Amino acid sequence: MLDRPPGAGAGPVAVMDKPKKEPILLNNQQHHYRLCLNCGFPNRQADTHCMYCQTSLVEDTGLLAWLRQTFYILRWRWQLRRKREHLQGKSGSGLGRHLGYFLIGVLLSAAGLYLFTVSVAESSFSNALIALLFLFYGGFTLRSLFARK
Ligand SMILES: [Zn+2]
Repeated sequence: MLDRPPGAGAGPVAVMDKPKKEPILLNNQQHHYRLCLNCGFPNRQADTHCMYCQTSLVEDTGLLAWLRQTFYILRWRWQLRRKREHLQGKSGSGLGRHLGYFLIGVLLSAAGLYLFTVSVAESSFSNALIALLFLFYGGFTLRSLFARK
């Protein structure tokens, strides 16, 4: 078998020199995708260039390759953030942030309630105080959320 374990440092030269005829291995490696760093298209392990955007997929360990990958990742994140900001700007009210605040408030309140019941059952005063603090913060978060509307 010519099967290489993923991550075994097969040099780029070896990959390029080897003729690509692995019809049997393809079946075994179908779940081993190599995601394109430029566009996210799942390519086969044997591919050296993205089938969608033709970006080189060869993983060499040089500094230049590392820089290129970092650049792609950073650009991808930046695009994602910009898209999200764009969506928020369109919807106007920042729905994601509101939802996050709401979840935090609900979680804090739930944790406070749970802690409170436990501390009452154990008649622990300090735990009850902490639980009340949780409840207070949760309620405050929820209140500020609805007050802003
Ligand atoms: Zn691509």
